[in-house]
Amino acid sequence: MSLIVAKFGGTSVADYPAMSRCADIILANPDTRLVVVSASSGVTNLLVELTQEQTCDERRMQLIKKIAHIQYQILDALGSPQEVAARLDTVLSRISSLSEELSRNRNKATMDELLAQGEQCSSALFAAVLREKGEAASAFDVRQVMRTDSHFGRAEPQIEQVAQLAAKHLAPLLSSQRIVTQGFIGGDENGSTTTLGRGGSDYSAALLAEALKATAVEIWTDVAGIYTTDPRLAPKASPIAEISFNEAAEMATFGAKVLHPATILPAVRQKIQVFVGSSREPERGGTWIRHQVEDEPVYRAVAVRRDQTLLNLHSLQMLHAQGFLAETFATLARHKISVDLITTSEVNVSLTLDKTGSDSAGNGLLSEALLQELSQHCRVRVEDDLALVAIVGNKIASTPGVCRRVFEVLEPHNVRMICQGASPHNLCVLVSESEAAQVVSALHKNLFEQ
Ligand code: ADP
Ligand code: ASP
Ligand code: MG
Repeated sequence: MSLIVAKFGGTSVADYPAMSRCADIILANPDTRLVVVSASSGVTNLLVELTQEQTCDERRMQLIKKIAHIQYQILDALGSPQEVAARLDTVLSRISSLSEELSRNRNKATMDELLAQGEQCSSALFAAVLREKGEAASAFDVRQVMRTDSHFGRAEPQIEQVAQLAAKHLAPLLSSQRIVTQGFIGGDENGSTTTLGRGGSDYSAALLAEALKATAVEIWTDVAGIYTTDPRLAPKASPIAEISFNEAAEMATFGAKVLHPATILPAVRQKIQVFVGSSREPERGGTWIRHQVEDEPVYRAVAVRRDQTLLNLHSLQMLHAQGFLAETFATLARHKISVDLITTSEVNVSLTLDKTGSDSAGNGLLSEALLQELSQHCRVRVEDDLALVAIVGNKIASTPGVCRRVFEVLEPHNVRMICQGASPHNLCVLVSESEAAQVVSALHKNLFEQ
């Protein structure tokens, strides 16, 4: 039997008309049995603000009101079915009590529990929209199957357990009805709620598709596929009809927000095709991400990842010595920090760390404790306000002339770091955050608009 998992992002479930359009997309395909939803647009941001220490009581009341307004508007449009109204009331009072608890005792477990409430609301409402259209549908609590570790704010899914739990609790439900579940959230072995990091619903959908051995994952969003760059940065960006897993993974890793960076991993493991399309204009088609594609151009896209931190480590220990990098990486690993780019000289190492890779509540990963630990064996300099621009494609490291085309555009800009060669699929440059938009637009012009 074919099984499709469809994920709808925040703008796709922002209000009743948007949810209704998404429901039509689902109903048009009888194979779409599992639906994964994000929180309605804006709700997770409001919840994040509720978790912040500096948010005063008055502001907390305002935030809760705003969330209630977004969710009750959808409920009203549905004619306020009693069971959904009762569910929303429960979730909203839980938001109030969790936020109050956090103002007294800040801890990451409670933050995740609070952040998870947005998806609780949207999944209950979305299932009701499907039922309103005459379809058998229920909301399902994904915490029953999305088992993660207890790293609150950025939890790691336990792939085998997710597969076992999904086969037991979720698969049997899918034959008789459409199931609507939450993206972004999971549960650890103690039953505590966890989250996978911002934008994590794409990853949830891919993980569930892997667990259920689905035929395809559909990511429905506000753009008609993956474009040659973020269409907000280059109006002439064009949608890509078909792209390989490798290229899509590079794009997501280097900031193409349209896909959470981890989304491709489960798809690759099970060779599941991924489709990205617009829930507002499904008729425009979209992008298929596949294991093998017909066309593999040198230049596929330009991606940008903002909010980058550069760590420059200086140590004379490095000179003709072994073990410095091992020690540095071990320290970073203990702090659960992954390094993105790296360049070295005789006595210096520069590393980029992704600050957008902070946890769900927006807490940065570069702690004082980490800096102190690193400082014990080298001199550390931290630079902020940087952006990483990646040219993504194929055979980049073995095609003559690529550097000329890229660097002629970069002439007026200061390039802080360059990385190329490790992968045939990318060439990355680190530039000042304030110049990133200009660099992307100029690169796009030179590589895609000639
Ligand atoms: P959702 O809420 O549906 O998950 P996101 O806002 O996370 O949607 O992702 C969609 C956005 O990703 C688009 O509106 C677009 O601005 C941005 N984006 C960045 N890079 C790309 C790209 N290469 N192609 C398409 N969209 C991109
Ligand atoms: N609601 C979460 C967020 O805003 C997850 C997602 O949308 O993918 O980050
Ligand atoms: Mg997203």
